[in-house]
Amino acid sequence: MAVRQEALFKINGMSLEKITSPKKVSSYFGENTFSAEAMERLVSKSTLEAFKLWMSEGKIITLDEANEIANAMKDWAISKGATYYTHWFQPMTGLTAEKHDSFISITAPGKVIEKFSGSKLIQGEPDASSFPSGGIRATFEARGYTAWDPSSPAFIIESKLGKTLCIPTIFISYHGESLDKKLPLLRSDEALNRAAKNLLQIFGRKDVKKVFSTCGPEQEYFLIDKNFYNLRQDLLMTGRTLIGAPSPKGQQLEDQYFGTIKERVLNFMYEVAEEAYKLGIPLMTRHNEVAPHQYEFAPIFEESNIAADHNQLLMDLMKKVALRHNLVCLLHEKPFAGINGSGKHLNWSLADDQGNNLLNPGQTPEDNLQFLAVLAAVLRAVYLHADLLRASVALAGNEHRLGANEAPPAIISVFLGNQLTAILDMIEKGIKKQVSKQDIIDLGLARLPKFNKDTTDRNRTSPFAFTGAKFEFRAVGSSQNISTPIAVINTIIADSLDYVAEQIKKEAKGKDFESSALRVIAGIIKETKDIRFEGNNYAPEWIKEAKKRGLPNIASTVEALEALTKKENIALFEKYKVFSKPELIARYHIWVHMYNLTLEIEANTLNEMVNASIIPAGCEYEKLLAENLGMLVALEKDAELKVEKGALSDQKEHLSDVVAKIYYVRRNTKEMMNSLDKAKDMGQDARAKFYFEGLKPLMEHIRRHVDALECVVSDEHWDLPKYREMLFIK
Ligand code: ADP
Ligand code: MG
Repeated sequence: MAVRQEALFKINGMSLEKITSPKKVSSYFGENTFSAEAMERLVSKSTLEAFKLWMSEGKIITLDEANEIANAMKDWAISKGATYYTHWFQPMTGLTAEKHDSFISITAPGKVIEKFSGSKLIQGEPDASSFPSGGIRATFEARGYTAWDPSSPAFIIESKLGKTLCIPTIFISYHGESLDKKLPLLRSDEALNRAAKNLLQIFGRKDVKKVFSTCGPEQEYFLIDKNFYNLRQDLLMTGRTLIGAPSPKGQQLEDQYFGTIKERVLNFMYEVAEEAYKLGIPLMTRHNEVAPHQYEFAPIFEESNIAADHNQLLMDLMKKVALRHNLVCLLHEKPFAGINGSGKHLNWSLADDQGNNLLNPGQTPEDNLQFLAVLAAVLRAVYLHADLLRASVALAGNEHRLGANEAPPAIISVFLGNQLTAILDMIEKGIKKQVSKQDIIDLGLARLPKFNKDTTDRNRTSPFAFTGAKFEFRAVGSSQNISTPIAVINTIIADSLDYVAEQIKKEAKGKDFESSALRVIAGIIKETKDIRFEGNNYAPEWIKEAKKRGLPNIASTVEALEALTKKENIALFEKYKVFSKPELIARYHIWVHMYNLTLEIEANTLNEMVNASIIPAGCEYEKLLAENLGMLVALEKDAELKVEKGALSDQKEHLSDVVAKIYYVRRNTKEMMNSLDKAKDMGQDARAKFYFEGLKPLMEHIRRHVDALECVVSDEHWDLPKYREMLFIK
């Protein structure tokens, strides 16, 4: 029996654990976070005030105050059973990193106490030499520092035998350059805050103290049984299946999306939610996604920095909890060929400290005008910087998704929906030198309709869609840290908010404010029209049309990343102090390098699978066929067995077909390995291009032949779990 088949029996024998009756969520939500509430309880009034001032106005706290907070945090953590603490940070690999230290401190020989100081809270010094720095950190200067991000609450991670206090931090080099994903996001929020407040001032909103971006990432994922996972080298090494014939039934019956959730999966979801709630992650929605065994979690939106931390935590939780259910959670963008991959729709909006959503049209012409000004800024931002948005989602996994007829294409465009389009069209056409109140009413601005998602969320194919009071950036990959896409969106929109504000100021000099603002908005609507597309983004006609409009359509990761090295883009990020030039160039190098490493791991894995599993299985089958044929021929000759001519030639044909397939697989695999060898002499940029153009097609080619073999080789000889098993056994 093939090991694959043994795995099947193990699944059937697995029993589900009984659940104890669940607790009321509100009774434990956030219990493992050092929340504002916990702080209020444990920190003196004056220190709390100082902390709040730090958060709102950036006035840094004193070391004494930091000591007090550290002490309170330690007491809180120890009272919950924590014995270790760690600075928790997000290096440029896209994962999170932690180095744990115990709270103990020696007081006398053989005696310890628990201790934690303000300086340890504020700053840490993990050895940075093993994290990618893209050349920022010279090898002789391995030092890297972590620094407390007080805007994101510390939290406790539990494992069965212990608890660890985790302190969210940024990660910087000795000279203060960002080596992480969090710091640029924080900086971009600062830029956005300044620009948005500036624009609001012009609209008479002088009461607003803070504007920030809000985010709600919809996390898609697959689950498969762990017994299968362990037998698939490709999933284990690369997160995706490099080979595997599609099962006859995929997603074509559309019977998975929003379907009944199977009990085993539901149990997993309950446990993830419980763990998430303890950490204050507000999970809201869960459902089956389009592909078989594909699912989604979506939280209630939060301030971007918190949302980004929470998403990282959630991904970790999902992987961890899945294992407890003997499942494996696959976060790769394209674990299975031929069915949908996974993305992370990034819902993004702007909010002020008064509780207003700036992408929500208001009740009055004035509010609506402000809404349209912000909307115009978004349109201009995407129009001018589609290349940066594309770069922000450029990674090897996402390359299988973008433009592959299921996810948003690699062409970035904006969808606004019928109502909003109609209004913008009217503004564009109807604008005069002077606009009266009546004109505004005629333009439909007296009261814009509420754009609820039912009327706007019909277009699932658009990469950047207005979905009622927020935009949804749908090109983000499921495994990605969302910080970079958010930082890019924040920055390009800050730039455009500044532009809109400047233009309105200029235009309104000595003139009526409302008509001036409207004229500026109309100008932007006209100028940025090419970025708007309401149709089907998957249609081939759109590719042609987009080309005519001059919109970039970049399929390759390395080409997309080149946007980070363009002069005007560097200038933009430097202007808003989100990335310095060295920081951007470093990211370019790191991400190109990661792309290459990913492809090299994939090719080497495929090579091993072909040689150690596929060819042996193929040869076994080949032998079976050959022996059988030889037997028939002999029987025909010696025992005068009557064999139909057609039957004999059919068997021969089948055998030579299998022989040929094995040959193709081996030949192409050798060529693939030669390619890898050849690439060794290339620089990283050239290598990435070579992999995209030469190596990937070769891997696809190998796959086609292997998959064809899978469909004929006897089940007995095929050890790799098949698509039908991984995707349909739940
Ligand atoms: P959809 O629009 O995709 O049908 P929902 O309206 O339920 O679905 O929202 C999807 C995600 O968008 C959720 O995570 C939600 O929290 C988030 N979201 C809603 N409003 C905002 C907002 N103002 N800013 C950021 N994210 C938001
Ligand atoms: Mg979805």
